[in-house]
Amino acid sequence: MRFPLSMTAGLAGYIYRNKFRPPKQWQLDRSTQTDPANPFKIIHTEMGRGRSAHPMINKRFPIVLMLEPLHACNLTCTGCGRIREYESTINEMLSLEQCLHAIDECGAPVVSICGGEPMLYPKLPELVEETLGRGKHIYLCTNGMFIRKKLHDYRPDSKLFFNVHLDGMEKTHDLCVERDGVFREAIEGIKAAKAAGFKVCTNTTVFRETDMNEIDELFAYLKQFHVDGHMISPGYGYSAVNDREIFLTREDIHEKFKGISQLAEKYPLNSTPVYLDFLKGERDLPCTAWGNPTYNTKGWKGPCYLITDSHHDTFEGLMTRTDWESYGAGNDPRCEHCMVHCGYEPSAALGINSKFSDGIRLLEWALR
Ligand code: SF4
Repeated sequence: MRFPLSMTAGLAGYIYRNKFRPPKQWQLDRSTQTDPANPFKIIHTEMGRGRSAHPMINKRFPIVLMLEPLHACNLTCTGCGRIREYESTINEMLSLEQCLHAIDECGAPVVSICGGEPMLYPKLPELVEETLGRGKHIYLCTNGMFIRKKLHDYRPDSKLFFNVHLDGMEKTHDLCVERDGVFREAIEGIKAAKAAGFKVCTNTTVFRETDMNEIDELFAYLKQFHVDGHMISPGYGYSAVNDREIFLTREDIHEKFKGISQLAEKYPLNSTPVYLDFLKGERDLPCTAWGNPTYNTKGWKGPCYLITDSHHDTFEGLMTRTDWESYGAGNDPRCEHCMVHCGYEPSAALGINSKFSDGIRLLEWALR
């Protein structure tokens, strides 16, 4: 099974409950909306003419919290915006209490602990324990350099995944992270974590230079270590990263991902089939960045993990004071080529622009 049954069932129940009873306090609009009938400009391409507005309109709630306890990192990866955007506050970190308050405040069932390198956060073992204690699922996003050294600080749990960054085989990955030896140490970390009974998945960003045959080779190589799943997403040239040459346009993304279904047949990809259709250019999805909110040392980052137009003191502030209508392809030039999972996977999970067969496909994908 792709995910633990508790995760599949818990997430399905959470989405179902919130779709029918979205928390009222997050649906208010305190920004300057121009079209209150369609605050997200959700596209009805699959729904035919004359249909009423999509039922997910005005139903905002988070699915995955991107929690960044700190932005400090031991690496300087080429495509990383965090170490550049937050350079002036790179030595600041959230207190454990702030992290837990953010988790409680938004209530998302999945917490992705990222950064920076979260394994540098001194209170990470306590944060992991407290988060598991709240019944949340955790993706601990790491470059893998400290797994072997710090593994004894954690205990295996079906709700806890080490999510190791790997952008290619050894030569490519070490080039992406700008240091030799990182790939080898990450692999040793994966081996150690699996041997100790932890769940491990990998996280790959596809850039202009990425050879998709090498990604096939990488996933085949990782099979021997019984890695539990692979996340894959196109890189996005947001303003914090100056090197725009490495990022893809929408057309490039469709071309790169045209063979993704074959990879999905061979390996346990964590991306939903609907999101993969979107990457291939076979499906239109709106951005629903509110499904993946980000919290860090400056507050709730709006509108999304990538673009920073504001930081809010409260989660409610992010939800109600962000002019969601003004983002997404066609609304903001900065969003034009963005197809990243944190903006669009929530749309797939929520069934926006869904087809009749999507429910069965998603169930089959989750249970495989
Ligand atoms: S389209 Fe991408 S960059 Fe724009 S708001 Fe959505 S997630 Fe952020």
